[in-house]
Amino acid sequence: MPDPKLVFPKPAAIPEKGANASLESKSIPETIAEKRFRNLLEAAPDAILEVDSSGRIMLANESAEKIFGYTREELYSLTVEDLVPAAMRSGHSRHRDSYVSSPQVRPMGSGLDLQAQRKDGSLIPVEISLSPNRVDEGLRVIAVVRDISARKQIEQRLRAIQEQFNAELATKNELLEARNRDVEQANRLKSEFLASMSHELRTPLHTIIGFTELMAEEVEGTLNDKQKRFLGHVLQDSRHLLQLINEILDISKIEAGKLELNVGTFDFATCLDEVMAGIHQQAAAKQIHLENKTTFRDPVYADRLRIKEILYNLLSNAVKFTPNGGSVWVESRTLDHGLEISVCDTGMGIAESDQESIFDKFYQVGSTTKGTREGTGLGLPITKKLVELHGGKIHVASKPGQGSRFTFTLPLLGPPSL
Ligand code: ADP
Repeated sequence: MPDPKLVFPKPAAIPEKGANASLESKSIPETIAEKRFRNLLEAAPDAILEVDSSGRIMLANESAEKIFGYTREELYSLTVEDLVPAAMRSGHSRHRDSYVSSPQVRPMGSGLDLQAQRKDGSLIPVEISLSPNRVDEGLRVIAVVRDISARKQIEQRLRAIQEQFNAELATKNELLEARNRDVEQANRLKSEFLASMSHELRTPLHTIIGFTELMAEEVEGTLNDKQKRFLGHVLQDSRHLLQLINEILDISKIEAGKLELNVGTFDFATCLDEVMAGIHQQAAAKQIHLENKTTFRDPVYADRLRIKEILYNLLSNAVKFTPNGGSVWVESRTLDHGLEISVCDTGMGIAESDQESIFDKFYQVGSTTKGTREGTGLGLPITKKLVELHGGKIHVASKPGQGSRFTFTLPLLGPPSL
């Protein structure tokens, strides 16, 4: 708490022209109050100048000496224009006159970058606030001048850092963009290469499979048991190879954005029967109970071959990852605007942490029920993409050791009306 005896009057108590008021509070002798006021002004870090209506400097504090580099005597022999940069000087008296005609407390040149000129001719950035002071001799203007060099330097340094940062960021962005273009180009070339290679590989493979089937059917003569067994291996592995090549071809087409659906209207139940018949042998080999529990009997508008591929991928996985004697079945449900198909099994299941990743390329959780790794890890990513191309969604619900349920939806769109 300040000593009440030492409390000074507020600036409003400074006498108006002709008023007979004193500077001090009642309890302080006038000389002490004046001295304290003087100290207050001298200690202020800003330059404080009192200027008369013709621009002459009438009063200046100690900071004014420091900031402008003049002694006080020198300041009292100057006009305020001497402190204005030479380039701005000519217009300044006009500003002063206009201030005198409507004096009020306000900052000078608000929004402008103001500068003041020191005795040595150097310029310093300043902020100036003006206030009128009426004294016996007339209107005086009090200018409080703040040297903002340090603040400007910091601002400049910050700006320089920001500009450097922006320049570095721009360079890095350019590099990144160039690298992205390279990666895209490399990816496209890889997809094109895979697509053309897969195509080249399929043609001779079809010939191998075709002639092997002919020989196995003993059209050109009977075979002994060993020959039949050998041909069986050739046929099985050739078909496996064909499936891998087809998957690689599919994924590269999908990634190159070149896979297009060939849609039409077909009977879903027949399509599912065909896939179940195709999977029947693999299921029977493991005594897996295979069942079609679907009730949906309407035609659907979709790409028949791709729907078969989706069903085949899910069913062959279900059989592959279900131990001997288990069950695999398909269910269906009609939704408001679509069809929901679930392929379920009582197999080894999938840990929750893997349930998202299995839809990523080449992701395989573990070995099949045969204890070996089969396939490419491409079946589910292709299946997901095919479902999505049809406007549907796929997800899995599974518990390790209890089985899995892969469910996909197909919006029931009709053929476009003419
Ligand atoms: P692939 O069958 O060629 O390995 P997929 O992309 O079809 O590749 O499947 C990825 C992985 O997801 C499989 O390797 C397997 O670990 C897991 N998986 C898929 N279907 C099932 C299923 N019905 N039961 C258990 N695991 C499955």
